[in-house]
Amino acid sequence: MQLKLAILDLVSGLKVYKFYSELNKSQWMTASELRQMQNEKLKTLLNYAYNNVPYYRSILPKEGSIKTNALDMLKDLPLLSRRLLQEKVQELCDETKSLKKMRLVSTSGTTGSVVKVYIDDCAITYSRALEKRGEYEWTGTNFFAKRVFFSTNKQDKRNFIRKLVNFIRSRWRYCLVEKEKRRYIKNEKLKLYIDEIITIQPQVVRGLASCLRHVAEYLQENDIKQIRPNAVISNSEPLTIKSKKLIEEAFGARVYNQYGLSECGTVASECPHGQMHINAERFIVEIVKDGEVVAPGMEGEIVITDLHNYGFPLIRYGTKDLGILDSNLCSCGRELPVLQKIVGRTVEIIHTPSGDSVPATQIDHIFGEIPYAQIRQVQLYQPSIDKLVVRLIKGHEYSEDSGSKAKSLIEPYFKDTGVELSLEFCDIIPTTKSGKMQFYLRGYNANNG
Ligand SMILES: [Zn+2]
Repeated sequence: MQLKLAILDLVSGLKVYKFYSELNKSQWMTASELRQMQNEKLKTLLNYAYNNVPYYRSILPKEGSIKTNALDMLKDLPLLSRRLLQEKVQELCDETKSLKKMRLVSTSGTTGSVVKVYIDDCAITYSRALEKRGEYEWTGTNFFAKRVFFSTNKQDKRNFIRKLVNFIRSRWRYCLVEKEKRRYIKNEKLKLYIDEIITIQPQVVRGLASCLRHVAEYLQENDIKQIRPNAVISNSEPLTIKSKKLIEEAFGARVYNQYGLSECGTVASECPHGQMHINAERFIVEIVKDGEVVAPGMEGEIVITDLHNYGFPLIRYGTKDLGILDSNLCSCGRELPVLQKIVGRTVEIIHTPSGDSVPATQIDHIFGEIPYAQIRQVQLYQPSIDKLVVRLIKGHEYSEDSGSKAKSLIEPYFKDTGVELSLEFCDIIPTTKSGKMQFYLRGYNANNG
């Protein structure tokens, strides 16, 4: 199998296999060896950031002064908040790299305020290798198992070689959202997909939590039990216990959860013993409350340092997600730190009177097109099934055009659904009891909510 993987690297021009081989060894390092590895990577990153990234030049000590324990000095560096990220996006880019050669990701994460991040090629490749470790090694399948993906977009910009690689590796991707209407596909189309997937008999099913849930609901409603993979992998969106149970019943397989962020990829993956291990070779995770790093066992904001994205270094990035570090070692034998009780955005589906349903994450992304200076924060509030209020906090450059643009971007999602849209301007958007800002809030009882 190793030879096949090496050939794939050669064909694709990426170093996925190289990183994947390294990661398969490093997962068995002791906690102290992992810390030492993080320290070395952090030292290199801080020195690089000082030399090449304007923002870090202004906050980091002089190059060369970071000599011994970089991890110790990390906690003294300022947090990189989402707000700061929005304001200083240009200053956070590596001056030596062309922005055109990096991938631009825009996401509102859990807060409704959009941030933009550039990801360089090396970080993208490393992400793939990390995903593969969590996706194959830890779920008891392998690199060449038949795989089906459910996603919300079809933007397939891969070249012919990539498509060939996917064909060789037996990967099938299904987009569950209609490109034109931007809502979940009708059941007739989903049925065609399901029929095809029954003939494929995939060993792994993977997708966003909301997509998996959508398919699981269909399978249960229609009593379809012929799709029986070895594992289901839920990524990118937090998975509620209710959704996990539903998906496991529908596919007759265990669901492995992954915690990831669009800004930097898969941060933690579930091991065979059910614990979420942090991918410590790439990420330093701190839990911060009231500006201080708290001990394992205590809840706080998940703060991430990405050790592999030199093109746009995220150092002490505040995710606004909440979590707790586990002080115990996992019984699987891996000493990669364990993250427990991650509280982030829940799976959000907007139901409409016409029966169409729209994934809230779809709308979430369009706010990337409106500058932060015009609209600072957004929340969708649905007081009844036929009404949707778009709550907005104006930025200092807000104009009437910004409001019209926001409305015109959202309208197509709800065309002919019987939902009436309106805008509401607020000074603040209230948070939940735990301090989270929910992007989508349902104000009525729905049976399938
Ligand atoms: Zn484990």
